[in-house]
Amino acid sequence: MTNAPSAPVSATRLDELARLVSPLDDRPDLPVRAPYDDSVVGEVPLCTPDDVRAAVSDARTAGTEWATWPIEDRVAVFSRFHDALLDRRESLLDVIQTETGKARADALEEVLDAAATARYYANHADRALTSKQRTGAIPLLTKAVEHHHPVGVVGIISPWNYPLSLSVSESIPALLAGNAIVLKPDEGTPFTALWALELLRECGLPEDVFQVVTGEGPTLGDPLIEGVDYVSFTGSTDVGRIVAETAGRHLTACSLELGGKNPLLVLDDADVEKAARGAVRGCFANAGQLCISLERIYVHEAVADDFRDALVRETRGLTLDAGYDYDHDVGSLLDRELLEKVESHVEDAVEKGATVLTGGRARPDLGPYFYEPTIVTDVTPEMTLADEETFGPVVSLYEVESVSEAIERANDSAYGLNASVWTERTQRGEQVAARLEVGTVNVNEAYAAAWASIDAPMGGMKASGIGRRHGRHGLLKYTESQTVATQRLGLLSPPKRGKQVWAEGATLGLRVWKRISEALP
Ligand code: NAD
Repeated sequence: MTNAPSAPVSATRLDELARLVSPLDDRPDLPVRAPYDDSVVGEVPLCTPDDVRAAVSDARTAGTEWATWPIEDRVAVFSRFHDALLDRRESLLDVIQTETGKARADALEEVLDAAATARYYANHADRALTSKQRTGAIPLLTKAVEHHHPVGVVGIISPWNYPLSLSVSESIPALLAGNAIVLKPDEGTPFTALWALELLRECGLPEDVFQVVTGEGPTLGDPLIEGVDYVSFTGSTDVGRIVAETAGRHLTACSLELGGKNPLLVLDDADVEKAARGAVRGCFANAGQLCISLERIYVHEAVADDFRDALVRETRGLTLDAGYDYDHDVGSLLDRELLEKVESHVEDAVEKGATVLTGGRARPDLGPYFYEPTIVTDVTPEMTLADEETFGPVVSLYEVESVSEAIERANDSAYGLNASVWTERTQRGEQVAARLEVGTVNVNEAYAAAWASIDAPMGGMKASGIGRRHGRHGLLKYTESQTVATQRLGLLSPPKRGKQVWAEGATLGLRVWKRISEALP
């Protein structure tokens, strides 16, 4: 028996949010559970493929009008949204915690992220979307201008672990670029996105521009990907492959933000206390249910003992419990399936000879899906823990003889999402970073430095994804670029007569142009 606190959001309020999903007619409902005690807290419609097609069609109609809004009017919606999110922070945190079971500080990270993303794109969208003059084929005679048009309707398929960031932050650049959205949130966490949708409408977003369809991924994925003009998927690598296949069949452009087995490297000159505190944050934030969290640590033998002791001590200092306040460091896992996966990874490792330095137990006394922050050592390649993403609060600790060995082993993974490097010489850390096959590297930080640098691209190499979010690219991927080239004089094709002379002239022209371009600064 646990004394899990009851959800602070009323069933009536959740029912109000569920009404923002408008299926074509009455549908059976999909129950949504609170991981803290596994109770059903609300229901949303179990949408069908026809509901998705209707949502895409409504979004397309509304999007046509939205795309004609002056950019400053679209920006104003997100500027208001930024302020409103921060003003109503606490009630949003209640919703996020209710359906994810995460600790409040982890939920806060999402709210700050969504507000920062709204601010960033509100400040930068105008300039990024403004048409730009490019160098024409023949300078002065050819005028070339690059334009960016909205793609139309963007489909967003998001996971449960960061239901605000990965649904709403991801929608912000797409909307600012003049697109409409059809979002399919995860089955387990639809209310956070619906809460944000309600707020966006209050901030001035026209009603049908942002649609949410709730229901099962395998049923709704296909019609969504077929109907939209771009699909942004965040989730597991396995489902990412299915989404990519479907997108390929329909020639729908897509970006895929997928899984990771992220390494942390502690170099021989690292401050072990700082590195241990950073590692604890990087391994156990959101109970390890974070795509960029760190599941492998490679520590140089020169500092291995001190680092291990500090890591174990810091990990044991974490508080694990349920609570709709800031009193606990680590919250619950999402559900039984994930708990069983985490347990099986640790059990398999222990059976094959690994050692648990701390943790390694489920905590049913706290709630049905709690699992202790866990450090495992003596992990060998035949253990599942070695290279499969656990997506829970479990990290493997390896000792290495050199920095080169750390880099080699860090790169020996199918994934390439995020990494963290700890050293007292930041330049050395940056040199190591350049040798790591991952999309983001944090030097003397775990993951937040790269994620929160919204001006810089974020995404995965190898099996961790295709494409990037954040920065200019994270906005322009939601546009079709169009080049309009206007020829001021003559044609760029050979004349009917005198082709030999034309060939000599064109060749000379290219030679001269190369000289000039080399001389230009
Ligand atoms: P998941 O792939 O099981 O589900 C993600 C979404 O896809 C859900 O909305 C689900 O309903 C939907 N879906 C399921 N089957 C589908 C199908 N056949 N067609 C279309 N959509 C379908 O992932 P998850 O378990 O919810 O999330 C955890 C995974 O996501 C981890 O691997 C994690 O690393 C990854 N993730 C990656 C990032 C990133 O930015 N790279 C961020 C968060 C999570």
